[in-house]
Amino acid sequence: MSKQILCLPGDGIGPEIVAEALKVLDVVKSRFGLAIEISEGLVGGASLDVHGVPLTDETLAEAKKSDAILFGSVGGPKWDDQPMMNRPERGLLKLRSEMGLFANLRPAMLFPQLAEASSLKHERVAGLDILIVRELTGGIYFGEPRGVRTLESGEREGYNTYVYRESEIKRIAKVAFEAAQKRGGRLTSVDKSNVLEVTALWREIVSDMGSDYSDVELSHMYVDNAAMQLVREPKQFDVMVTGNMFGDILSDCAAMLTGSIGMLPSASLNEVNQGMYEPVHGSAPDIAGQGKANPLAQILSLAMLLRYSLGEIAAADAIEKAVSDVLDQGLRTGDIASEGCTQVSTSEMGDAVVACLKS
Ligand code: NAD
Repeated sequence: MSKQILCLPGDGIGPEIVAEALKVLDVVKSRFGLAIEISEGLVGGASLDVHGVPLTDETLAEAKKSDAILFGSVGGPKWDDQPMMNRPERGLLKLRSEMGLFANLRPAMLFPQLAEASSLKHERVAGLDILIVRELTGGIYFGEPRGVRTLESGEREGYNTYVYRESEIKRIAKVAFEAAQKRGGRLTSVDKSNVLEVTALWREIVSDMGSDYSDVELSHMYVDNAAMQLVREPKQFDVMVTGNMFGDILSDCAAMLTGSIGMLPSASLNEVNQGMYEPVHGSAPDIAGQGKANPLAQILSLAMLLRYSLGEIAAADAIEKAVSDVLDQGLRTGDIASEGCTQVSTSEMGDAVVACLKS
């Protein structure tokens, strides 16, 4: 039976870079004999312009029926004066919450050819390939009670609740163990179990689950040490798993080790492995429509889609290799341009990836 992919290009550079990813999908479909049907919908500002809302019920229903969503980006100055509930970004948030996308996978990959873009020394980061698995729908960002109250003394006090249920920890740990099995076989669970009971429970549960994954080498690290190790010796990590707040901070830190926002894909998965795949960057309105956008983060998001939601590992590997090959050829879009390289447009970069996949 064919797999269904819903494509939501969105706004700004979204449609330009999604078009390049679709060219790539076309080639891998025939090269690997994949049965995939693609449909397209509107989201964000593009949907607001036509339907008056950033995500229609019909598009949401379509998304829920799909095996995976290839998402571009949303937002832009045209819609900045919309009321909060009708901002383009609401379309994205609604998809995440309605589909229960609790697992956020953020790779920090640095192709050796781009090592100069990092703020760390070449030898520390060349070939960096970390996957951070962040719990996305629980923890202190969602815990109740929360708020600001006035004490009897008249002083105000802000408070939040850091809470994780056993089932929430198990489901995110399962995603991380399985991701480690598909990658380098090592998993580091990050917590603050020396201070916070909730993360002591996290550590206990992840440790117990470790015996079901004997092919994965499990270790634990306190979050302060993890932050330090990420900038000291980032290549020691394969997969890292952590809660919502620690993951928010560590994934941005890891992303910046790579120095090139136009290269970073991401995935958000739910319990049945349905996923939404999108570049980490936004809609880049400053360069939209000029053929300057780097399509590689979107193309690498497609590789993640094939790997994690469709289980097409060989096709995903082939796309990642093709991206590395075009970098070897010295082709660069403006955001990653460097001396001695050939600057290319969005579609020329997409065409080069396609050519590598065909050769
Ligand atoms: P941005 O990521 O869109 O752009 C930041 C800078 O990086 C810009 O200079 C841009 O030109 C550059 N850039 C980003 N992607 C690039 C690419 N693929 N190739 C080359 N250069 C690239 O962030 P921003 O400017 O803060 O936000 C712009 C809009 O995007 C806002 O409306 C924001 O709300 C929205 N946004 C959407 C998402 C999403 O859809 N997931 C994420 C972040 C921001």
